[in-house]
Amino acid sequence: MHFHVITLFPEVCRAYTDASILGRAQKVEKGKGAKVKGKQIDVSYYNPRDFSTDKHKKVDERPYGGGPGMVMIAEPILKAWQKAVGGKTSALKAGKVKTLIMSPRGTVFTNTIAKKWADEYDHLVLISGRYEGIDARVKEVLGAEEVSVGDYVLTGGELPALTIIDSVSRQIPGVLGTFDSLEDDRATEGVTYTRPDVLVYKKKKYPVPEVLLNGNHAEIEKWRGR
Ligand code: SAH
Repeated sequence: MHFHVITLFPEVCRAYTDASILGRAQKVEKGKGAKVKGKQIDVSYYNPRDFSTDKHKKVDERPYGGGPGMVMIAEPILKAWQKAVGGKTSALKAGKVKTLIMSPRGTVFTNTIAKKWADEYDHLVLISGRYEGIDARVKEVLGAEEVSVGDYVLTGGELPALTIIDSVSRQIPGVLGTFDSLEDDRATEGVTYTRPDVLVYKKKKYPVPEVLLNGNHAEIEKWRGR
């Protein structure tokens, strides 16, 4: 899966996608012996500012019809999209490219949607808004879908885009270890504990439930309600 993020703040996002599991999934890994594990995901960033034809690199304008704040101009975003996937003719023809616009008014994103997108597409383009949002014609021109990460308003689409990349990546085979994948399928993971077996905080003792320490897996599964 290739994620293409269109954002005015690529560096903010890159710090997240380069770390930990997502970072590892973008690298070719050399295993034991001659074993080489290919990468499972790619993440590319495009800054609309780099595609602005205005001499001041302007990317926003006042809204038509009045109203507060500024709106992101369509053209630099459309050019960024063109650079990202415009040349992927066969993927576009095969319906393997999905374009998403981050919006608090969009379809609310869920794990089920993450699974579906991971299965169906090779390219996800995630367009991040800022200010009062994006000129509505971007959605029209690109046939994009508006997606929300929840019923609240953020200052930008970067966190939503990262949320979607993170969650979709977890559904791609090989991104998680087998154990984690298994845990993901058990939708309702319960509480977890690790060392020490007795935590002392402000003179009070907090022990790990006894059942987890005795090594009886049948009992542990029962305790976990499985
Ligand atoms: N009044 C504007 C608010 C824009 S918030 C509006 O109703 O659209 C600025 C940007 O943050 C949006 O363009 C969108 O890309 C992003 N954003 C904010 N909240 C979001 C949410 N819950 N889900 C997805 N994107 C969101």
